[in-house]
Amino acid sequence: MVKSGIGYDIHRLEKGESLILGGVKVSSSIGVIAYSDGDVLLHAIVDALLGAAALGDLGKYFPSSDEKWEGKDSLFFLQYAAELLYKKGYKIEHLDSTIILESPKVSNKISDMIDNISNAINLDKSSISIKATTTDGLGFIGKNTGIGALAIATISK
Ligand code: ZN
Repeated sequence: MVKSGIGYDIHRLEKGESLILGGVKVSSSIGVIAYSDGDVLLHAIVDALLGAAALGDLGKYFPSSDEKWEGKDSLFFLQYAAELLYKKGYKIEHLDSTIILESPKVSNKISDMIDNISNAINLDKSSISIKATTTDGLGFIGKNTGIGALAIATISK
């Protein structure tokens, strides 16, 4: 049986914060205001994985009201979600995702992000896709006050 799940995340960007995507620190004058490390890409992927197995969402396991998750490495959340799926007998078949960000350009960091995700959940790199796009200057993302990510996970049992 094959199942799929979607994930979506948005965070606010401000000057002087750090920008971490797929567990990779991206050099940037603006970064994410968020609980945990604000890794929108990983948050979207975690929600996609949990959604594929109908196991809820990131906030169910790691509520932002709990200070214990402040500054937490989101690769930990990713590993936790993958473990939940593996324990239920699921295999992760494929992850596809898109980062939506006006600037800086992140395309040269994507292979490092894929390495991190591959290592975290023991998934072959050929089954992990990360893309990046802008909103062509439109809206809050276009004005560099926010960053978004979309993900879809395909799993099987
Ligand atoms: Zn998030």
